[in-house]
Amino acid sequence: MGDDTCPPLLSVCGVYTTASGPHAPPMLSSGGAPPPQGYAAYREMICRITFLSYNDIMTTVYVWVPSPQHEYPDHPERPGRLTLLEARLSQFPVEKVEARFATREEVARVHEPSMISSIEAACVRGETIIDFAPTFVTATSFQDALLAAGGTLACVRAVWRGEAANGFAIVRPPGHHAEPDRAMGFCLFNNVAIAARDLLECGAQRVLVVDYDAHHGNGTEAAFWTDERLGYLSTHQWGIYPGTGRIDEAPHARRRIVNVPLPAYAGNACFDLAAERILAPWVRSFRPDVLLVSAGFDAHWDDPITTMGLSSMGFYALSKRLVELAEECCRGRIVFVLEGGYNPRNVANGAAAVFAALTGREFEDPGDRFPVREPDVSRVVDAVCSWHEFDGSAQRATRSG
Ligand SMILES: [Zn+2]
Repeated sequence: MGDDTCPPLLSVCGVYTTASGPHAPPMLSSGGAPPPQGYAAYREMICRITFLSYNDIMTTVYVWVPSPQHEYPDHPERPGRLTLLEARLSQFPVEKVEARFATREEVARVHEPSMISSIEAACVRGETIIDFAPTFVTATSFQDALLAAGGTLACVRAVWRGEAANGFAIVRPPGHHAEPDRAMGFCLFNNVAIAARDLLECGAQRVLVVDYDAHHGNGTEAAFWTDERLGYLSTHQWGIYPGTGRIDEAPHARRRIVNVPLPAYAGNACFDLAAERILAPWVRSFRPDVLLVSAGFDAHWDDPITTMGLSSMGFYALSKRLVELAEECCRGRIVFVLEGGYNPRNVANGAAAVFAALTGREFEDPGDRFPVREPDVSRVVDAVCSWHEFDGSAQRATRSG
């Protein structure tokens, strides 16, 4: 992948692309419209001719950055999180993109140079704790974090260039807690925020990040705080680490920075309601060029460090809705980026749910239904809608008291 030449899929579709060739389609023959320039334009042309969507004829890509040496004794953010997922990767009809190291310049679009240097310096000392979460580094963590960020960039750029329909960056260390001036919450560099800024550099006008990790992505919120081109929506368990993510936290950025703090045990039905009344109108109103997703699987009811209520089918429903919103609003351009999730079985099932949504396949329910009754979150949803003045929310909020 990567060169800007005519892809083999065009001949698979029965369409020849040489304007002067004997089998040129009518629109490319003399007197028709001029041939489109570039790889993405050709793909779009094929979609129009064949009435197929991008996802029907294009690949879902992933990057794989497991960082096996970024490990600390008894720490939940460990390489073993990905073991069960790795064993299932070959089941998915997806194509691997090679990760690369992010450059310092790319990382510095989000993080202060002094913060980048301080992580590099900490790694020279070897295995050590750098934050109370606790966040750790080892001798390889600086390189691991550069590869996680660069791998995310490789995946996102493949989608932006039209070389792939959509993608999933399976990377660690995770990123959404890392703020511009500090690493925290098991996170070193903010992979998804670095990718969002890269998209702006590549020509995107507006980028959204949806974060369904159980924790609030304070780092992504901080990185996007004053940039009108970037929007952020987080669903998270209220009252746990890092303590941020109030509904009214960003009064200067209503309808752009959206926080949905949920009570413990909020599960599939709660997320359905939030997606219908908050997520969907928000994405439609922002009109992004690309949708990025901070995909944490620690909102699963059986995660060892949180108390949420999603099942694997809940992750599938949410991921499918996000893919459909991307198809509706930004030509299907969506990339999921792994954040948390500390039960390896849930990470494997959650990733399978994401791949099923990305490739349009059915998801096989692993039967991990939430055994507890979910709370009623309608008041939280009303309050969020009212704060951001999403359509009809003011009346609903009044009626529900
Ligand atoms: Zn988390």
